[in-house]
Amino acid sequence: MLDSTNRAFGISNELSYEMIPSISTSVFPELELEEEIKRLAKIGWRCVEINLGSSRVDKGRVSKIAKLCEELDISIIQVHGRNPGMARRSEEERRKFMRQAKESIIWAGELGAKWVVLHPSNRKAGYRTLEALNDVKRSNLEGFLELLEVAEATGVGIAIENLPPVLHDSLPGESIFGADPYELLWLVKSINSKRIGICLDTNHIIPSIQGFDQYQVIKIIGQHLVATHISDNDGFREQHLLPFMGKIDWNAVVRGLKEVGYRGAFNLEVGFTRVPLKLRDSLVSYALRLLEELVKGQV
Ligand SMILES: [Zn+2]
Repeated sequence: MLDSTNRAFGISNELSYEMIPSISTSVFPELELEEEIKRLAKIGWRCVEINLGSSRVDKGRVSKIAKLCEELDISIIQVHGRNPGMARRSEEERRKFMRQAKESIIWAGELGAKWVVLHPSNRKAGYRTLEALNDVKRSNLEGFLELLEVAEATGVGIAIENLPPVLHDSLPGESIFGADPYELLWLVKSINSKRIGICLDTNHIIPSIQGFDQYQVIKIIGQHLVATHISDNDGFREQHLLPFMGKIDWNAVVRGLKEVGYRGAFNLEVGFTRVPLKLRDSLVSYALRLLEELVKGQV
């Protein structure tokens, strides 16, 4: 079945992807971003997620990257924006992070992306009181409503990403807003706009801590799923491994995505920086082959 997404991205009827293999620009972080995109194109990638949070991107570079991608026939379905810290305690910080997030939404529009992925904000959850959690929820709702105005004016959508249940600076017993899929559902349903959806990060689901797995989360999110970050973990911590290098049930993930009718980027978000640069192309090429098989469901 050839859908409009496939047509838009020039993907042939024969391959008939309902999900498009894509990769985050984080596999060659030591190169200039333009060099990374050229290298990914040469390996065969046709779709990338640009990480706008990286220091390799600035205002003057966005139009050059857009032009390069067009020349190389590379599509950008989703980008990773600069995360808004709407629940930060300091008003000054809150304003700074919101300004950066708004700027990245505008850049996403210039790059022709359909979705900009943003993390929810959780900085006050460390208080561990019900009032603190409610305060975080309210800040996120107000903050994303503010960002939505920019997204609507720019013609892109916002995909709010699920967070891992534990962060590097988590306090004991701290609950992280946005780790529970029902919290994200509450957020997107409260905002209620076709320009707001959810990005599933498979690696941010830790079954041994949360008691649910990736397949269950996909089914809970359902039609609100608009973007993905694909990588594996061992079920105990965040790792960003290639699929099948950890314990995630990839057949169940792909089945779940097909069952909820997900169409969009099947976007790999991994770090290969410990692999020597001269050997890394083979791994990035293998990763493409892996994703092509996964989206077809032949694994
Ligand atoms: Zn992610």
